[in-house]
Amino acid sequence: RVAPPVVHYYMNNLTTSRTPIENEETVLILTPMARFYQEYWDNLAKLSYPHSLISLGFIIPKTKEGNAAYAALQAQIAKTQSGPKPKRFAAVTILRQDTENPLSSQAETERHKMENQKVRRAAMSKARNSLLFTTMGPTTSWVLWMDADIIETPPSLIQDLAAYDVPIIVPNCFQRHYDKEKKTSIIREYDLNNWIDSPTAKEMGAKMGKDEILLEGYGEMPTYRSLMAKMYDPSADPTTKIKLDGVGGTTLLVKAEVHRDGAMFPPFAFYNLIETEGFAKMAKRLNWESFGLPNYLVFHYDE
Ligand code: GDP
Ligand code: MN
Repeated sequence: RVAPPVVHYYMNNLTTSRTPIENEETVLILTPMARFYQEYWDNLAKLSYPHSLISLGFIIPKTKEGNAAYAALQAQIAKTQSGPKPKRFAAVTILRQDTENPLSSQAETERHKMENQKVRRAAMSKARNSLLFTTMGPTTSWVLWMDADIIETPPSLIQDLAAYDVPIIVPNCFQRHYDKEKKTSIIREYDLNNWIDSPTAKEMGAKMGKDEILLEGYGEMPTYRSLMAKMYDPSADPTTKIKLDGVGGTTLLVKAEVHRDGAMFPPFAFYNLIETEGFAKMAKRLNWESFGLPNYLVFHYDE
């Protein structure tokens, strides 16, 4: 019998640069998926980063809704992966998640109730961690977190974000909304988890129990943090970059090295923060900074 081969990876040769295509850097796009939106897939398929350098990973709950998402996703994967070669992705992994959904409903009103936040976001953290630790490989340069309800981004999203050459970067997540009264289409802010910390929030955290969490966007808990969602200015420099203390996960580009160092999504109160906001804090403790692009928009589905 021949001894099984040993595979060597020289991690110092794995680059994450501002010119990722020239350096053939691989991108792992990770999506926790409770629902399937065709617009999400169509947007993904239009990304102009070479698909041969992109791997996809999904985690889908084992619920009735999850089963429907799973079937719809598989149909699209089959189509794309048997279509024109340049459009095919390098690899696709789908995990089914056997844990119970802590909420009875995925409806936005139910998801966003304050009393549901801790269990919901702890469950989301575990889903993200399972997905990350199962799919990230020794050749992964970048991890792009993209929620299943992100339905519109510039096709050059990956190149655009990577060009900043920073450890963690988030675009501003908005929503296109049809205002029935005014009969016009407007855009409005969606993701409030991209923020710069405030003295008030710090004081609130200092007075909290160690298992309590700070939440953003709830009137009963005013934090006075500076929200990137409120900083969008279409007439300002589209390339403006700001430093952030908390990030959301709707669209989030991370150098794989940050995750490899151990930064994950705490499913518990970490400095009174949870999930993606806790991730930014953990990354910071590992000396990795987070940045946001207030004038670079991506769009979330409008429920
Ligand atoms: P929100 O937009 O911040 O309210 O969060 P979402 O409910 O959209 O959830 C974020 C992402 O996780 C979306 O891509 C969802 O489809 C997905 N998601 C939500 N709940 C679950 C879950 O229980 N398990 C998994 N695997 N994904 C989920
Ligand atoms: Mn969402």
